Amino acid sequence: MEFDALFTAQLDALKEEGNYRIFAELERRCGQFPTARSHDDEAPDEVTVWCSNDYLGMGQHPAVIQAMKETVDSCGTGAGGTRNISGTNYHHVRLEAELADLHGKEAALLFTSGYVSNWAALSTLGSRLPDCVILSDALNHASMIEGIRHSRARKIIWKHNDPEDLDRKLAALPANAPKIVAFESVYSMDGDICPMAEIVEVAEKHGAMTYLDEVHAVGLYGSRGGGISEREGLADRITLIEGTLGKAFGCMGGYITGSRALCDFIRSFASGFIFTTALPPAVAAAAQTSIAHLKTSQVERMRQRRQVARLRAMLDARGIPHLDNPSHIIPVMIKDPVKCRMLADILMREYGIYVQPINYPTVPKGTERLRFTPSPLHSDADIDRLVEALTVLWKQCAIAHQVA
Ligand SMILES: *Cc1c(COP(=O)(O)O)cnc(C)c1O
Repeated sequence: MEFDALFTAQLDALKEEGNYRIFAELERRCGQFPTARSHDDEAPDEVTVWCSNDYLGMGQHPAVIQAMKETVDSCGTGAGGTRNISGTNYHHVRLEAELADLHGKEAALLFTSGYVSNWAALSTLGSRLPDCVILSDALNHASMIEGIRHSRARKIIWKHNDPEDLDRKLAALPANAPKIVAFESVYSMDGDICPMAEIVEVAEKHGAMTYLDEVHAVGLYGSRGGGISEREGLADRITLIEGTLGKAFGCMGGYITGSRALCDFIRSFASGFIFTTALPPAVAAAAQTSIAHLKTSQVERMRQRRQVARLRAMLDARGIPHLDNPSHIIPVMIKDPVKCRMLADILMREYGIYVQPINYPTVPKGTERLRFTPSPLHSDADIDRLVEALTVLWKQCAIAHQVA
């Protein structure tokens, strides 16, 4: 039991800083997103979720639900093994073909999550390519950072979204060493989008591979939901595109796409792919249905864009400061962990509005924020109620207004 003192000492330090994490216990209700039941004693029974990564509400789309149910009935629950030992199901193979097609690549490879796909792919590439150097954007996601670290390859961090800095850093490296430029399209905390054409150009100039995380863009951007690389017509110039099935596609799992040889290489050498049970076939079937739907349907994306624009315009009208960005993510900056938590608590308890405070280490200290993600299923009335609540709180708490 004396070990517990070691744990609580560090937890107490977190609490003191205001960075201790408290999870909201919710019960999602199928057919009623973004409404959920709250199990928090101090909150109303029904709350509106404003921070979900189920960006388009596909987690309750009838066709996706039906695919999952039917596949549970036909295949049962689990995959029954790793991909190599009895776990490869027809539905995994079909999903991989769907993903390869989504990004216009020869092949795709599934993982149990987006985190695992980044971790496994980058650690395998970095460790198995002799003298490999990985050039990582300064704001890359933890899953990429951990994958690169685990690879023990040489790592160079370039300034966030700065192709000139990348160019200088690439130019200083030996011409014959394999180089990987790792970056994201939509950065989920600031909602900014990378200058992809410039980055690709610089990478090509130096003969470097490009490794692109499109986790916050797949399903949402491009006319088939192929992400920013599709929208910009750059997918065929990116070596590897990585994504998740857990955000806009409303299911679970991660993947990479690229050339047949690249995917075969990761399939054959990545520990994080080989030694773990395959996704349940029902999850694969549901994800495949969701992707296929969003390849042709534009209504979810259009309606989401409308609601995002509406919330932004209303915040502007009330002088509530939010980061200006070209994506679907609306960060309202609070810049103090204790205030951020307090505002989120009041919104939840007094207004039934759920937005998780985003604190360190997810974002740097001093940049704490509330991060809103309007979906096509948030009504105009939901937006009105949110803005009304924020306006009252801004007055009560005397948080800086921007000049409207
Ligand atoms: C969420 C996230 C991941 C991980 O995806 P999961 O499927 O949730 O594991 C990877 N990259 C970025 C940028 C993310 O935000």
